[in-house]
Amino acid sequence: MQTNKNAQCKECLNKFYQKEIYTIQQFQYKEEPKYRWTLDFLKKLKIDEWDSFCEECIMIYSKKLDDAWNKQKSQVL
Ligand SMILES: [Zn+2]
Repeated sequence: MQTNKNAQCKECLNKFYQKEIYTIQQFQYKEEPKYRWTLDFLKKLKIDEWDSFCEECIMIYSKKLDDAWNKQKSQVL
């Protein structure tokens, strides 16, 4: 029986199994924004590539990212 949930989500601080943890590196597979832009944006939120998040919290950041990207796109036009 594997019971050691030793990975901690940086956002909600709950403990998870390592395999249930996500990092923002998965955002590099998004078509847009570009990963470079994503990193710069998240750096302002004090998040870097090695921070761990649970699925729920990574989805929240994914949404924040999309919102910020869409907002800045409309400002450029
Ligand atoms: Zn979390």
